Amino acid sequence: TGLANLRQVGHEIDTVLQRAPVIVAAITVDGFREVNDTLGHLIGDELLSEVAERLQRAFPDAVLGRIGGGRFAIAVPADQVAGDAALFGLRLRTSVEGGLQIGAVGTHVRLSVGCVKGPDHGADAATLLRRAETAMYSARGAQGGPVLWEPAYEVQGQRRMAVVMALRDAVATGAIGVAFQPKIRASDGSVAGVEALARWTHPALGGISPDEFIPLAEASGLIGILTNSILRQSLTACRGWQRRGGRVGVAVNVSASTILDPDFVGEVRRALVETGLEAELLTLELTESVVLAEPEQAAERMSELRRLGVRLSIDDFGTGYSSLTYLKGLPIHEVKIDRGFVTHLVRDAADQAVVRAVVDIAHTLGMSVVAEGLESTEQKQLLERLGVDELQGFLVARPMPALKMASWLRGEARHLMSAPD
Ligand code: C2E
Ligand code: CA
Ligand code: CA
Repeated sequence: TGLANLRQVGHEIDTVLQRAPVIVAAITVDGFREVNDTLGHLIGDELLSEVAERLQRAFPDAVLGRIGGGRFAIAVPADQVAGDAALFGLRLRTSVEGGLQIGAVGTHVRLSVGCVKGPDHGADAATLLRRAETAMYSARGAQGGPVLWEPAYEVQGQRRMAVVMALRDAVATGAIGVAFQPKIRASDGSVAGVEALARWTHPALGGISPDEFIPLAEASGLIGILTNSILRQSLTACRGWQRRGGRVGVAVNVSASTILDPDFVGEVRRALVETGLEAELLTLELTESVVLAEPEQAAERMSELRRLGVRLSIDDFGTGYSSLTYLKGLPIHEVKIDRGFVTHLVRDAADQAVVRAVVDIAHTLGMSVVAEGLESTEQKQLLERLGVDELQGFLVARPMPALKMASWLRGEARHLMSAPD
């Protein structure tokens, strides 16, 4: 890219900082690692130099440097952006994000951006850069941000480190377990399947939510092993219920980086063979972002999985039906409407309209629709009226261990199960 490195950028930022307040942003190119790994670093390099060029074009006077991997730092005097760090972050995203063609490869550039203000958030470049990066990492879990650094991140940073270290051990020793939550058919209340949800209780840190450790597992390269472990535990449990006469499928959540991993399909095949479970009893839940960010690779991987015979579901759905139309050509069986829409459904006409539209299009495309996060009977009645096929949420049952799931299935779904042995 011909850009300054971390040390040089730091030096230049310190110089600006001596004269005037400065806004520093740390940027990461989402999916850069995957592009590099799967398409080769020639394409990876091209991607980075295109990003660098777009940044330079939008902010010709800024201090700009590459601070490692797919990461950049960019700084401007605060008055150039009205002292507004978030505005600067947004302008960075709008001027860089969008389609990009490299040779035969079409991709979509997306950034995660973290910002800091100097000297408010730090008196020297090293502190500002470090804090901008911290904010950037949290932007990755927040639709790209921009996220503005705040003092609380310092404490969170220490927690993150502790959790990542513990996570490494937990993944290696198989200490992360699974809970299962059933999903029922709206038509007759019968069990349509169960979803596997990762569960982790650390001896010193206590119970840690997947919303906290899954993003950390993704960021620290542990998600592949973790997904494998969850997959095997889920298939084994499912096989166990089947032996007792309950034919109920299991759904496993798959992160974006995992679905793009070239080894993943093979792992799924092996897990199915080793547990002796029919492929059609396994559903993989993916989020739509991966399909939009890496359409070709994702489509190819999905077709391979489809050929294995597993079902595919789009999780956390809800950013409008333009993307549903986009999913048209893909082998998707099911769409899960994001919990966010269900929460306020009863009072919010707009949410109702979205659910109705999603149901409409999904049915036209031959997909079934699941609503999750169902907590009240009012929501249930409304969702049924809106034509949703399947329901999942605390109203039906909370996530529970495999053994408890087995007895729940016997009790709740007697018509699906033969008598227990
Ligand atoms: P998700 O896939 O959307 O999973 C549904 C989440 O909603 C679960 O949270 C579940 O416990 C919760 N939930 C279910 N019914 C209700 C309800 O009625 N009300 C409310 N308020 N919540 C409900 P959980 O287990 O904390 O998981 C959070 C997220 O972490 C999951 O969201 C999923 O994105 C991720 N995750 C969990 N396990 C795995 C895993 O094995 N692999 C991957 N990649 N991600 C996982
Ligand atoms: Ca899910
Ligand atoms: Ca979900």
